[in-house]
Amino acid sequence: MNFQEAEDLDGVRFSWNTFPTNTFDASNLVLPIGSLYTPLFKKKDLNIIDNQNPIVCSNSNCQSILNKYTHFDHNSLSWICSICLSRNFLPKNYFANSSADNNNINLNDFDQILTSSTIEYKLPNKTSKFPSNIYLFAIDLALNADQNDLEEFESLKSSILSSINYLSEDSIIGLITFGKNINIYQLSDLNIIKNFSFNGDKFYSKSQIQEKLGILPEDLRSHSKKYNIGSNYFQKISTYNFVFEKIINNLKLDVWPIKKNERKLRSTGNCLNIIKNLLISCFPQTNVQILLFLSGPADYGLGKITTPNRKDTLRSNNDIINGNKNFHKESKTFYNNIAKEIAYQGYTLNLFIGSYDQIGLFEMSKLLNLTSGSCIFSDSFKTSIFKNSLIKFFESHSLINNNNNDNDNDNDIDIDNNNNEITNIGFNGSLQIKTSVPLKINGLIGNAISLNSMENSNPNLRVDLSKKKNFSNSNISDLEIGIGKTNSWKLCNVSSSSTYAIYFEINKDALTQTRTQMVYIQYTFHYQHLDGQYRLRVTTIQRPIYKLSTYKNFFLENFDEEAAVILISRLISFKKFNSKNNDFEKNENGIKYIDEMLIDLIRKFNFIDINTNTLLLPGTFLSFPGFTYNLRRSFLLNSFNYSPDELTYYNHLLLSENVDNSLVMIQPVLLSYGQDTLDKDQNNFDNIKTEAVLLDSLSIKSNRILFLDTFFEILVFHGANIAALNSYLQREPDKFLEKYGNQFKENFDKFLKSPNEDIKDILVERFPLPRFISCKEGDSQSRFLISKLSPTNAYKDGGFRGEEVHLLTDDLSLQSYFAILVEKALTNDSKKS
Ligand SMILES: [Zn+2]
Repeated sequence: MNFQEAEDLDGVRFSWNTFPTNTFDASNLVLPIGSLYTPLFKKKDLNIIDNQNPIVCSNSNCQSILNKYTHFDHNSLSWICSICLSRNFLPKNYFANSSADNNNINLNDFDQILTSSTIEYKLPNKTSKFPSNIYLFAIDLALNADQNDLEEFESLKSSILSSINYLSEDSIIGLITFGKNINIYQLSDLNIIKNFSFNGDKFYSKSQIQEKLGILPEDLRSHSKKYNIGSNYFQKISTYNFVFEKIINNLKLDVWPIKKNERKLRSTGNCLNIIKNLLISCFPQTNVQILLFLSGPADYGLGKITTPNRKDTLRSNNDIINGNKNFHKESKTFYNNIAKEIAYQGYTLNLFIGSYDQIGLFEMSKLLNLTSGSCIFSDSFKTSIFKNSLIKFFESHSLINNNNNDNDNDNDIDIDNNNNEITNIGFNGSLQIKTSVPLKINGLIGNAISLNSMENSNPNLRVDLSKKKNFSNSNISDLEIGIGKTNSWKLCNVSSSSTYAIYFEINKDALTQTRTQMVYIQYTFHYQHLDGQYRLRVTTIQRPIYKLSTYKNFFLENFDEEAAVILISRLISFKKFNSKNNDFEKNENGIKYIDEMLIDLIRKFNFIDINTNTLLLPGTFLSFPGFTYNLRRSFLLNSFNYSPDELTYYNHLLLSENVDNSLVMIQPVLLSYGQDTLDKDQNNFDNIKTEAVLLDSLSIKSNRILFLDTFFEILVFHGANIAALNSYLQREPDKFLEKYGNQFKENFDKFLKSPNEDIKDILVERFPLPRFISCKEGDSQSRFLISKLSPTNAYKDGGFRGEEVHLLTDDLSLQSYFAILVEKALTNDSKKS
C-alpha cells in the first residue's frame, strides 16, 4: 500500500492499515491503532457539490452520509448504509430535471458522490448572523521605555499597520491595549481618539463591562432591533481603517513610574478576561480572531506568573515539576478556564510574542491548544522572523494573493511569498467521526475541544448534522485516549496542514455483528470557509479486517511507521502537558513508555536475527527504531535545554502539524553538499553532490556543507576546510583570487550558496518561519547541530547496558540503542519461557 498516495487522496493515514478481529489481537499489535486526519489538506481535483445538502442515512442513531462505499441499487433507488447497514430510499423526484433546478441534485454530482471517497458540499441557505472575518487586536504597552524599546515599539506598530492591508475590505476590526490598565478604543469617532479604561488589577464581570461600554445586555436587545451591538468598538476596515491607523500611530508606551529593578506592570490575564466578555457580548458563537501581541510576562492582576520584582526569576522546568514557585498552578487554571470559554464560542487566540524573557506560554498553552491559535515566537518585534511570519499569517487570511510584499529581510535569503496557491482555512469547525460496528473511538489528540459537553450546555452550538442527539454512543469507547468520551470535537481554526490524531479500539462484539470483512470510517468536517460560506467535507475510508494469526504478514506489509511514530509522539505529548496538577510529566516516564513498547513489539513479532543477535526488521519497520531513538532525543523527552515556554511552543506545533512536518520535528532532516573524495588542495567545487545523510556525527566532513532542518530551526554548517577557505576569502579576497584563480572562486561561491534552494523551498511553505542558524566546525553555535546527531564514535564499547530500560542516557548512540533493545527483548523472552 502506498501511504502517501492514500494521503493525497483523502488526507488520512493509519498506523495499521489492516484491522484485527478482536481486542486480544489488537493488544498483540502493541502499537496504537489510529489515524491522522487532515480535514483541509490541499487536494487536487477536489469534488465540490454546489448548493446541496448531503444525503443522510435515515437511522437517527447513525445519520452517516451516502458515499462511495454505499451499496446503491439504481433500480429501486435505495441504498444500504455502509456504517449501520440500514436500508434507505432516495426521496421522490430526487434528481434534477434540468441544470437550473437547484433543489435537486444533478446526475453528474450524484455520480461523484458514488465514486469519490472525499467530497465537499457547499451547503445551501446557511448564513451567519455575524460577518465571518472579525479581528480584535490586543497590544502590549508595557515594553520598557529605553531607546531600544521605542524602536521595538515603532517596529511593532508598523507591522500591525501593514498587516491590515491583507484583510478583505469587509473585515471587522477592534482594538485593545494593555499594560497597567486595559483600554478599549472607540473606532466610530472620526475626529477624536476615545477609549474606556479598565483597572488591570481588577476582575470585571460581563455585565460590568457591558454597563461601562454601554452595550445592552442580551435580554434587552430584542426591544431595540436596530441596535448595532458593539458598533462603537468594532468597525469595517474599509470605512474606518484611518481611525485605526490614527490610533495606532498615536499609541504611547505605558509611563507609570516603576522602581529600579522592577518590571513594568502587565495585566495580560485581566485583559484576556475583558476580551472574552466583550466578544461574548458582541459576537457570541462565531469566528473571531484575537491577535495578542505580547512582549513580556504577566506580573499584575489575575493570571500573573511572577511579581514586578526582577529578582523574582521566572519558573524553570524543575520548578514546575517540583512545584517550587507560587504562581504557575493558579495562573494555569485561570487561563485554562478562559481558553475553554473562548473555544466554546468559536474564537481563536493567536499569540505574537516579541520577548527575550519567557511570557508565560506554559501557563497559557490551552489558549492556543483549545482554540487552534497560531503562535509566532520571537525575541523581538524587530526580527525578520516576527515580521515575515506575521505577513504569512495575514496572507493565509486573505482571499486574494498579495504579491506586493515589502520584505525588509535581514537574512541573506530572500523569502518568496508569492505562493500561487490560495491557502485553505476553515473557521468555527466541527469534526464528527462515524465508524462501522467493528470499531470504537478512544479519543482525539490535537488542537480541539470535545463537543459532547458543549452540546449539553448549549444547544446552539450543535452542528447541523448532529441535531437529533449525539450519534449512537455505541462507537464511543469507555477507555479515553486524549480528548475522549465523544465522537465530535470543535475545531476553531483549521489550516490546510492542521492534522488530528484519532485513536481506535476493536469492538469486542465486532465479528458477530459485521457482515463484511471491512471497517468503514466516515470523517465529516463542518466549517465556515474564508468566503463566509458553510461547507461540509466528507471523507469515507474502508480498510480490511483480518485474523492476526493467519495474516500476520499482511499486517506487517500495511504498517505505516511514519503515522505510527506520530501517533505515539502525540500520546506522549498529551500525557506530558495534561497532568492533573498543571505540572509537566517527567521525561523518564515517556522514555520508559516507548522503550517498553518497542521491546514488546520486537518480541511479539520476532524482529531478531538469532544468529547475529541483531534487529531483523521487515521493510515497513526499517526506520521505526530510528524514529523512536530520535523521539527520545527530541524536545518531548529530552527537555532540559529548553524553557517551559519553548517546550510549550514546540509542543503546540507538534499537535498542529501534518505528517511530513511532524516527522521533521521528531527526526530532523540532514542534507550534505560536497565532494568527499577530493582532498583539501584538489578541491575545485565544480561538481557538487547533494544527498540526504544520516543524523550521525560521522556525517560531519571537513569538505562538506551540511544543512539541518528541525522544523523550528534551519541550520547551515561549514566543515573545517570550507570554513577556513571561506574565512580566507572574506579576509583577503585579492590573495584568494591570486592563489586559486577566478574559476575556482566562482565555483566556490556557487558551492557556498548550494543550500539556498532547499532553504527557499522550506520558507515558502513553513509557518511560522524557522530560526536561522549559521555555523562552522568548532564554533559554539555548532553545538546545536552536534546535539541532534548520534554520537557514533563515542560509545563503541557498549558500556551502557544498565539494569533498567529507562536508564538509557540521552547521548546513547543509535547502534548502542539497537543493541540494548535486542538484549532486553531477549531477556524478556527468556523470562517468559
Ligand atoms: Zn446508517
